[in-house]
Amino acid sequence: MQSLLNRTQQILPSGSANILARTFIQPIQDRRIYQHPILEIPEKKKVDFTWNGVKLQGYEGEALSSSLIANGQTVFGFHTRDGSPQGIFCANGQCSQCMVVVDGLSKKSCMIPLEEGMNVKYAELTLPKSHESFSTKDIPTKEVDVLIIGGGPSGLSASIELGKQGVDVLCIDDKDRFGGKLVLQTHKFFGSAEECYAGTRGYRIGEILEKEVRKYESVTLKNNSTALAVYSDKTIGILTNGKYELIKPKKLLVATGAREKFLSFPGNTLPGVYGAGAFQTLVNRDLVKCSDKVMIIGGGNVGLIGGYHAIQAGIEVVGLVEALPECGGYKVHEDKLRRLGVPIMTRHTIVEAKGDEKVEQVVIAQLDDNWNIIEGTYQTYDVDTILLAVGLEECREFTDKAKKYGLDVYSAGDAQEIAEASAAMFTGKIAGRKILKSLGKKIQIPEEWEEKAEILKSKPGEVQLEREQFEDNEGFFPVFHCFQDIPCDACTAACSHGNIETGEEGITEIPQFIGEVDDCDGCLRCVSECPGLAVTLVDCNDDPDNPVVTFPYEIWKSDVKVGSKVEVIDDFGATIGRFPVERIIKRGETLLVSVKMPFKYAKSAASVVKKIEKVDPQLIYEKKSPKDSSIVCRCERITAGEIRKVIKDGARDMNQIKIATRAGMGACGSKTCNSVIGRIFREEGIPPEDITPRVMRPLYVEVSMGAFAGLD
Ligand code: SF4
Ligand code: SF4
Repeated sequence: MQSLLNRTQQILPSGSANILARTFIQPIQDRRIYQHPILEIPEKKKVDFTWNGVKLQGYEGEALSSSLIANGQTVFGFHTRDGSPQGIFCANGQCSQCMVVVDGLSKKSCMIPLEEGMNVKYAELTLPKSHESFSTKDIPTKEVDVLIIGGGPSGLSASIELGKQGVDVLCIDDKDRFGGKLVLQTHKFFGSAEECYAGTRGYRIGEILEKEVRKYESVTLKNNSTALAVYSDKTIGILTNGKYELIKPKKLLVATGAREKFLSFPGNTLPGVYGAGAFQTLVNRDLVKCSDKVMIIGGGNVGLIGGYHAIQAGIEVVGLVEALPECGGYKVHEDKLRRLGVPIMTRHTIVEAKGDEKVEQVVIAQLDDNWNIIEGTYQTYDVDTILLAVGLEECREFTDKAKKYGLDVYSAGDAQEIAEASAAMFTGKIAGRKILKSLGKKIQIPEEWEEKAEILKSKPGEVQLEREQFEDNEGFFPVFHCFQDIPCDACTAACSHGNIETGEEGITEIPQFIGEVDDCDGCLRCVSECPGLAVTLVDCNDDPDNPVVTFPYEIWKSDVKVGSKVEVIDDFGATIGRFPVERIIKRGETLLVSVKMPFKYAKSAASVVKKIEKVDPQLIYEKKSPKDSSIVCRCERITAGEIRKVIKDGARDMNQIKIATRAGMGACGSKTCNSVIGRIFREEGIPPEDITPRVMRPLYVEVSMGAFAGLD
């Protein structure tokens, strides 16, 4: 792959004149991540493929979109309506923006595993050659007790419950590995250590769950397998590596997760505007550095974690923008970013993405209390990426269809209600037990399970900076830089001496050290297992006036050395001073860095850092684009202005809007524009009860008609 760096070859598009009247060149780059502070870089088989006639290399079986971006190719085609450049948005088969032509057929590149010799071209209007004559084959129908669509945290957890009872289960997932969104998470999880692996990294939890499921012979796991439709005869059509079959289950569990919401602003479809899931897929799952400089939009957990993942991948985070007065995500996540020097700009909004063929700049501005932009507060940053983390919505199309056709259907995880993956594991377990009961198995659903699931879904509480602290400079004691009620007991569970409490009965209260001097033996497990990197340990044993404070540290590991001085900061990001490193211990992927400092600083010292340099924005914003020029329907290139006009003209039925404007008629089946149109209704003061929803289409991938006819 390194040889690609030395190549000066550039890709010149060929083919259809309407899109290629403009000259567009994307230099080939090597965008692979070869070093990561948490993830190992696996050995993979390289294969050749062609992209607009140019030979490139990728890894066999990885998503084709990742292979392209790994080679510096972010523009996947040009829209036939207005010639606008197209690039990946969701990387999850939902949005259709990554469409390319593969061996003559239009495909979503994020859903196609790369194969040797693939001939890939810009998306263009192509029709496959028709077979001159062919005979159809019967489509096999397989009966199972339970079909589970989705092998993420909830689908796998349900499989375990069903497998324990020997129930015949088929669990399918449309990706090349199981775990769903867990696969994308490099951070340690919150929640309950006993019930849902708090303190373990997300991708590891996915591996643990899959391993557990594979113990049960009655459960079949099938990956690269996509559910296409639920039919009125209570069968479900699935496509596995191009082969179509019908499944007739007694029970159906929909564990299809969630899709990301899109946002309306001028320039919102430029390549380089990614949903947070796409970004995490590229950097964490496929180890592709898709960006050099990113602005995060959205201060919920997804945006905050996305920012941290970006820094782990060596990407500069110029800031995080949140429209609310406070970030909605956990403060411990927010603090990790603040300590690294990332500006968190609350009460701000994105105004525009600027660029010709891809994102080159982002404009943000401050909001007043009525959500209006305050003139004169515009800031323009040079970035190549905008990460949108503005919420999720449930993928529930299969549930609705199954209910309509009288199938006994259940849902779990984000497909049931958007929440943390820890809650999804619980709702999956509960759904598994409900299915067992419906199959006549004598099994109980413990009452406390529902309660626990609700606790795991709970929102973070108020920030409380005041708390009781260990006063004396004796022995060992931990300090908690965790100032908010959140569902997490990883520190409590880590301490085998029972020194830490996160509430007498629950797991949501702010942690406290409840031990006495000498109760803590300095094992450092609470420091290494806290997912928020929010526990430090003070050791006063050798020198009470100058104790050693141990910090968790995960990012620029090679920059921290014994004997060298490191910057130490407090809970608010202010520098306390530079102090010598006494010792470094490796615990898994986390370094425990011990630093000697005066006792007066020991309890306020929150972190050792190497802060990223602050990027100063330009304060000039000329050539403003009209707000309503933003795209709502990406597939059909329909603007907010066009939608607003038909709403002002009286349209209240989403299906009318579709007929009048074509919004929602494109390849994604209105999965991207639906929530944005809802927002325009709100802006126009139309109450939700006056709006007739549209008919949603569940098909997630392009399927050749031949597959439905049983052809290869
Ligand atoms: S250092 Fe070990 S013994 Fe002390 S509080 Fe933490 S986990 Fe418990
Ligand atoms: S200090 Fe305890 S409760 Fe807070 S994030 Fe860390 S492990 Fe969870």
